[in-house]
Amino acid sequence: MTYSYNYDEQDEIEHENEDDQKEEKVKEIGGEQNETPSTPSIPSTTTITPASSTPSPPISSPSPPPPTPPTTPSSNPPIPPSLQKERPYPLFLLEKAADVLDEASQSFTTFVSTLSSENALPPPLQTGTRPKVVVLGTGWGAASYLKTLSTTSYEVTVISPRNFFLFTPMLAGAAVGTVEYRSITEAVRKLNSNMNFLEATATSVDTESKTIECESVVCEGNSCTIDSFTVPYDYAIVTIGAATNTFGIPGVRENCNFLKQISDARRIRTSIVNCFERANLPGLTETQKRATLTFAVIGAGPTGVEFASELRDFVEQDGPVFYPHLLPYVRIKVIEASSTILAPFDKSLQESAIASLTRKTTVLEGSGGDITELLLDSGVAEVKSNVILLNDGREIPYGLSVWAAGNGPMPLTLSLIDAIGGEQKDAQPVARGRLAVDGWCRVKGTDGTLMAFGDCSCQVENQLPATAQVASQQGEYLAKLFSRGYDFTGGLPGVGVVGCSLPPPLSPSTTSSLAEKVAGFATGNTGYAVPFQFLNLGILAYTGAGSALAQVQLTPDSKRKIKGTGQVGFGIWRSVYLSKQVSGRNRLLVLVDWVKAKSFGRDITRL
Ligand SMILES: Cc1cc2nc3c(=O)[nH]c(=O)nc-3n(C[C@H](O)[C@H](O)[C@H](O)COP(=O)(O)OP(=O)(O)OC[C@H]3O[C@@H](n4cnc5c(N)ncnc54)[C@H](O)[C@@H]3O)c2cc1C
Repeated sequence: MTYSYNYDEQDEIEHENEDDQKEEKVKEIGGEQNETPSTPSIPSTTTITPASSTPSPPISSPSPPPPTPPTTPSSNPPIPPSLQKERPYPLFLLEKAADVLDEASQSFTTFVSTLSSENALPPPLQTGTRPKVVVLGTGWGAASYLKTLSTTSYEVTVISPRNFFLFTPMLAGAAVGTVEYRSITEAVRKLNSNMNFLEATATSVDTESKTIECESVVCEGNSCTIDSFTVPYDYAIVTIGAATNTFGIPGVRENCNFLKQISDARRIRTSIVNCFERANLPGLTETQKRATLTFAVIGAGPTGVEFASELRDFVEQDGPVFYPHLLPYVRIKVIEASSTILAPFDKSLQESAIASLTRKTTVLEGSGGDITELLLDSGVAEVKSNVILLNDGREIPYGLSVWAAGNGPMPLTLSLIDAIGGEQKDAQPVARGRLAVDGWCRVKGTDGTLMAFGDCSCQVENQLPATAQVASQQGEYLAKLFSRGYDFTGGLPGVGVVGCSLPPPLSPSTTSSLAEKVAGFATGNTGYAVPFQFLNLGILAYTGAGSALAQVQLTPDSKRKIKGTGQVGFGIWRSVYLSKQVSGRNRLLVLVDWVKAKSFGRDITRL
């Protein structure tokens, strides 16, 4: 599904981020790396071990620099528009088809050469001889980059506080127990076995010395320390995603649950069961029971709508078995500041989603049949510990609140924008807290050795939605350019320009692939990498009770679309989510979870 970056109140966000940076850092490191319930809190006086005295992380020895060592330009001259132009859509599709043929022929060649080498294992890869690529993050962008990259040409180190990939589109399902946490996560080491992974958070990137400062939380018993160390790079790939945007609204950070990480889903799932068990205790008044069983979902974008729908499925499908006497008290309130829901979808699909969300229920006897209430045009002014205050003065008592209202910048992204200055600062009116990149994912204002894609980046000339679809296509695109040996510093030997002043040229000794020939024909330029072009495969959203929305765009101008709702949409939704899992293991586990939930209900034990 498609999400738009929501930076409407940028001033507030920046202010909030300044205030929250330190707290965020500790939360990020501690929260992500130590997800076990018994995780001790990090003491305020942590030991910051100097880089030199840290137990050395397994970083390789220095390797020769990449093909064209660049000098950092203070500002790059603009790339000629003729080299940036998009391919006409039919030719772009032809290029994609050629790409598939290229891949098939490459796999066949590899297979044949494996057979002819009489099953001999390839020689072990040498460290210190290949350019060092450091990837920050293990999300959608990083996963597709790592799965596609030929690691025989590069020495790859991945740094992230999370040692797994998370299939975010099914996080809402995990938060109510439709699928289990481990079914939608995959160890990053499985995505590409030929790389080194460091479980740490990158805190700064020095583009001059080409080093990355990292921090890692190490806990022993009840005390935790933060170890810091430095990692050198030849190419750094920043794909660290986005943070939750609270728009500076008081009480959101303290009282709302977010839905970004697996730890959030776990917390929400526990809290839902908690609300039911609390409401079941003796001595509560009717009003207290109703408040405890009011679930407030703030934000009616795809995340909010999908969570509200999954929660309602839980109430309708499992409530009658476990809590029949409590069901008349249950309310799901979806609060949205704008006048509609699911902004990326067409109006007819939005209406269908509203009808599905607010349909009468058959399990809530004596309550008029309403479980979900949609509050449109209802901006949140403040969230207190048990009541939400709306801008118009209304008060909504709640038992659990989930904030699903927008993306904001990560502290590292902001610090990089600050450190690069110049072109980055100039681009901020458009990029709004994201790293401005060119069409080849190179961070503007750098020498072409720092790349960014996914939610933390913004292609200024051609803005794209902040979605998994975009991030993973960008990751695959960039990995292919790396594997083909393009020179990202943009300096053709003899031309005399370095940095991001030209598209990455293909080495003159490399023969163009079929896809490159088609792209070259489409643009009239051969020898240079074509810029990233997004192939919109459509958007999906689950709307509850076995119905979903599917919107597939047939032409880039959005005029011709295929739309599906109800069970048809649901069929498409489930097949796409299943096919997009990153491994066969995930696919099987998700399938089993769906069957399990349907046959035996969701697991409500609070472990
Ligand atoms: C609940 C939910 C549902 C969604 N559903 C859909 C959907 O159906 N379809 C769709 O297209 N999109 C969906 N999205 C959006 C999608 O998840 C994002 O657009 C996508 O994850 C962006 O990918 P990314 O690689 O940029 O960042 P992420 O996937 O967020 O990954 C960021 C990675 O960086 C790591 N990291 C963070 N800070 C640092 C640091 N300082 N140093 C090192 N590593 C760091 C994180 O641990 C993480 O591994 C959904 C998002 C959510 C939250």
